[in-house]
Amino acid sequence: MCVERASPGLGASAAGYPQGVTELSAVNRIRIEVDRDLCIGSGDCVDSAPEVFALDDEGKAVVLDTDAAAVDDVVEAARNCPVTAIFVIGEEGEIYP
Ligand code: SF4
Repeated sequence: MCVERASPGLGASAAGYPQGVTELSAVNRIRIEVDRDLCIGSGDCVDSAPEVFALDDEGKAVVLDTDAAAVDDVVEAARNCPVTAIFVIGEEGEIYP
């Protein structure tokens, strides 16, 4: 399966992270990824955390600002995704799912 994920941190791996691991956000120290193949554009994540998520021109969720809400609120938004398309990654690995 072709998995395309949207993350604002892509390409920012110059800070000593291993290849394939992108940088974590400055405040929350997390990375949020949206699997665009899974996303059905329901908008639940946007309703849950509108500072963090938005829908793009294709009706798919994108990450606006990883640090615009508390980690718990980001995880709650991810939990509200009906198709589990949102992945929250922290320093120790995946926080959700
Ligand atoms: S809640 Fe899930 S399916 Fe709905 S827009 Fe957000 S990422 Fe896409």
